[in-house]
Amino acid sequence: MRPERLNPLFADADSLDGVGPKLRRPLEKLGLTRVKDLAYHLPDRFVQRRTVASLDDAEVGEQIVLALTVIEHRASTGRGPFRVLAQDAIGNVCALTYFGRASYSAKSQLPVGETRWVAGKLEQYGQMLQIVHPDHVAAENAALVGKLTEPVYPLAEGLTQPRMASLAAQGLERLPDLPEWIEPGLLDRQKWPHWRDALLLAHAREHPDARDRLAYDELLANSLALMLVKSANRARRGQPLAGDGRLRGKLQLPFPLTGAQQRSIREIEGDLAQLSPMLRLLQGDVGAGKTVVALEAMLTAVEAGAQAAMLAPTEILARQHYETLRKLIAPTGANIALLTGRDKGRPRESILMGLLDGSIDILVGTHAIFQDTVTYRNLALVVIDEQHRFGVGQRLMLTQKGRVTPHCLAMTATPIPRTLTLAQYGEMEVSRLDEMPPGRQPIDTRVVAVERIADVVAGLERHLANGQQAYWVCPMVREHETEDIAAAEARYAALRERFGDTVVLVHGQLKPELKDAAMERFASGDAKLLVATTVIEVGVDVPNATLMVIEQAERFGLAQLHQLRGRVGRGSEKSVCLLLRGGQLSETARERLALMRETQDGFRLAEEDLRLRGGGELLGTRQSGDTPFRIASLEQITRLLPIAHDDARLLVERDGGLASDRGEAARILLYLFERDWGVQLLRGG
Ligand code: ADP
Ligand code: MG
Repeated sequence: MRPERLNPLFADADSLDGVGPKLRRPLEKLGLTRVKDLAYHLPDRFVQRRTVASLDDAEVGEQIVLALTVIEHRASTGRGPFRVLAQDAIGNVCALTYFGRASYSAKSQLPVGETRWVAGKLEQYGQMLQIVHPDHVAAENAALVGKLTEPVYPLAEGLTQPRMASLAAQGLERLPDLPEWIEPGLLDRQKWPHWRDALLLAHAREHPDARDRLAYDELLANSLALMLVKSANRARRGQPLAGDGRLRGKLQLPFPLTGAQQRSIREIEGDLAQLSPMLRLLQGDVGAGKTVVALEAMLTAVEAGAQAAMLAPTEILARQHYETLRKLIAPTGANIALLTGRDKGRPRESILMGLLDGSIDILVGTHAIFQDTVTYRNLALVVIDEQHRFGVGQRLMLTQKGRVTPHCLAMTATPIPRTLTLAQYGEMEVSRLDEMPPGRQPIDTRVVAVERIADVVAGLERHLANGQQAYWVCPMVREHETEDIAAAEARYAALRERFGDTVVLVHGQLKPELKDAAMERFASGDAKLLVATTVIEVGVDVPNATLMVIEQAERFGLAQLHQLRGRVGRGSEKSVCLLLRGGQLSETARERLALMRETQDGFRLAEEDLRLRGGGELLGTRQSGDTPFRIASLEQITRLLPIAHDDARLLVERDGGLASDRGEAARILLYLFERDWGVQLLRGG
């Protein structure tokens, strides 16, 4: 149970003054639903103001505070603004400009003949100096003294800075006193403030140490939870699996395994032979050959008299894995089945029977394979493909299916940088397939301006006439999914006009039957051109598809582009990837596209991606979308995560039950960052 002193922080945001139904929406949009979220809603930056004696002392563009005496109210004409003309102590004139309803309050706040202290940004409008919508107007200077430095918060429509500041301030008032969970030596060395002070400071002024401390807390909570998972797992009883090689010996692979594959298989075998369940991540770029490694692992389990299950994130992938594995497994005589959410009635019943009586050795499927109604005779190994789609929580649930905990092999084709591997998979051992099977042709990658799209389509025509297949990828941006789909549909219609019935469309909102039908037509070679949103990102394998066009390539991240490009270059024919780009490119976008041309090494691209996104980062900009963190920026993750990780490991080694004073404090930290599953494991044993 959550420690009581944290309760005020987890209270609903509604409990703050001024939060009614109207504010709830914009707050939710920012992910601010509880008091804690507001206390942790840190400013993007700060306005620094300077008090000046007259306008002569101020620069245009500067944030100032000065005394002005009102000369005249100039009513708005038509759509124009309402202006208050005012002069400083030596007679310089300046306009205070208001649009819309703000002019009503301006009239009463700034009576003609009175002197007022005004805070705002000085601008030039034609010949005139002006301040548009002053931030503050006060009768006494004293009222503005505290406002020389003010936070600027990330906002959503319907929220204002003063409102946000008031909510954050209320959140800060409710901060409890919490014991220190950071190791004292580290706190000293870094000169970090304590938790409560750090939050207060981070809202009050630019304070890198305070922000680092808060980021560190989040990183430490994450690492600690992962370490607890790891140590709890070590204490669990699994089933040692020692295969005798009788099935694996019958495999007839058309190629020798790469060194990296052999090494990974050995590492996995080593884990499987242990009593404590395996928790291993197999990291390998698209095409690196993870499937065979998984197959060897699953056959090892079957040789040992147990069952294995492979979980895929989508139905398409489950089907594809099933087909691939079925063919590979055939010579061994092992029994494999496919189960997805679409299987109903008799076929489903018969699969369930097979699992229960053990006649099915290997099951491939979507998460349907872990429903309560699915009972295995002896499930000893779970393989999870495309791991990044499952959170740690889900992972834990999946592996708690059987009487004994099954071994778990997670596979991901997203080559993420080492630091992020720690953040996301810190509880796992890692095997890296850092060597590609031989004979792969490099993919010829070119950047093409979108104005040349007609040439691209002409090239596509020649390509298809040559009997080869192609992908056409339309961009997908989350906020406007429907628009993206509309764009993909429009492109599909245009290409279909040109190339007829051989064009198929796949996107995320298509009914599964239609999606599968389209994919099957493409995979069988019946359809020649697949138009898609990024749903093809994962897994699909069609060696005859040797051309990929990516529209608005500048809108994709490096990792994503790399993932997409990995769909081609899978056969013996030379492959081409055309990155269509728009006219206006940022420096970073330009660099990203250049890197795509330059290298095909996924791990290198991942490191560069991190560098491009994490470097030059402004205070508090949160670009860590694909990390499990809200507070820590990419730059902070890179710098502080390794420290947090070591610290968490030491703490768990010394005090695995979190029973010492620091351990107690660390429990509070876990609840604070909602990694309570870490704490729950302590009790579960
Ligand atoms: P991943 O799942 O890692 O993206 P796959 O397992 O689908 O990659 O393998 C990609 C392709 O490479 C498949 O066609 C597979 O048969 C082939 N392959 C795998 N290992 C080797 C190898 N050692 N030598 C040659 N080809 C291989
Ligand atoms: Mg794969």
